[in-house]
Amino acid sequence: MSTHSDSAAIQESVALETGSRLPEAHAGRAPRPRRASTYAGFDFDVMVVGAGSAGLAAALTLGRCRRRVLVCDGGPPRNETSPAVHGFLSRDGIRPAELLRLGREQLAPYDTVQLREIKIKDITRQGQGFALVGDTGGGREFAATARKVLLATGVADLLPPLPGMRELWGRGVLHCPYCHGWEVRDQPLAVYGRGRTVTGLALLVSRWSRDVLVVTDGPGHLTQHARLRLRREGIQVNEGKLSRLIGSASGDLKCLEFEDGTQLSRAALFLHAPQQQRSELAQVLGAQLTSKGAVRVDSKCETTVPGLYAAGDTTPGTQQALLAAAEGNKAAICLNEVLTREECPR
Ligand SMILES: Cc1cc2nc3c(=O)[nH]c(=O)nc-3n(C[C@H](O)[C@H](O)[C@H](O)COP(=O)(O)OP(=O)(O)OC[C@H]3O[C@@H](n4cnc5c(N)ncnc54)[C@H](O)[C@@H]3O)c2cc1C
Repeated sequence: MSTHSDSAAIQESVALETGSRLPEAHAGRAPRPRRASTYAGFDFDVMVVGAGSAGLAAALTLGRCRRRVLVCDGGPPRNETSPAVHGFLSRDGIRPAELLRLGREQLAPYDTVQLREIKIKDITRQGQGFALVGDTGGGREFAATARKVLLATGVADLLPPLPGMRELWGRGVLHCPYCHGWEVRDQPLAVYGRGRTVTGLALLVSRWSRDVLVVTDGPGHLTQHARLRLRREGIQVNEGKLSRLIGSASGDLKCLEFEDGTQLSRAALFLHAPQQQRSELAQVLGAQLTSKGAVRVDSKCETTVPGLYAAGDTTPGTQQALLAAAEGNKAAICLNEVLTREECPR
């Protein structure tokens, strides 16, 4: 962990990192004077860690509130390998990268918002706020302070180590029928997993196709009742060990191959993979996680660490791009209100 108590060094570090990823609006501008609301020597009102749907939506609302914001973009979003984002009002079918490009572009008019390629690697308390340290795209170390921090760092899906799983993830291997069920409707589908998880997912997927096969890749740990429920919906169960998933060069699934050499043609395979947080920043500060590993937040999007907020997939609940954006928007409003209360004491 880096230590960075010397505020002069922090100021210098912020001044060095003047490159913004909002070219049109910021190119050629003189450095902006510090706004009155950035009080008590903090570099930013809010640092938003993560530039997916949640982080960009939060930055948009905070920019419209004239808050000094730094959005730290640490890399691709969770759905990077997917060809399209579905179910996002007015953007159904848009490429994930294009959705975020539009989101970044629409931050450009808000001259108190900066967005930079920075992966935050450490966060500590500094007075009433926080000090953050990260790596920039160029490998230089970055450090800055903020009154509040919003974690919008998302989650990572932990895929089983079956050959083909990772390669086809997002196209032939799908995580969610609400996002991608329509595209494979009425086709032969597989649902991978064991126990209650696979039962629930298979019953759900059977609303999109009447040809659904559960593959458990070994003993399925299914109760008699689960087997009955699956059978009632015409869902077969195959407990054979899989050897690999075979797909096309473009990532579509062609068939499942079992260890006995049998091949079975399927158009897509769904699974609910376990997840982990993309970043450990919440844990570094001692924020509580739920039993499922999500960052616990209250109704104002604040974690159990005062001043540390979280939004999007990183928090509990349904995971969708539109919902992540909505949570980012809500967190931004909560942040602006708490900052306002601090600036306008009773
Ligand atoms: C294959 C796939 C397909 C999907 N398809 C759909 C769909 O069709 N429709 C839909 O609604 N949802 C879909 N989803 C779900 C959707 O991707 C998520 O709900 C959404 O991306 C969540 O947004 P987020 O901003 O919370 O997280 P993300 O989009 O994952 O963004 C988090 C960001 O934080 C950054 N980050 C992490 N750690 C750091 C750090 N230390 N410093 C700086 N930055 C950091 C990451 O690089 C990332 O850019 C899909 C998911 C998957 C896996």
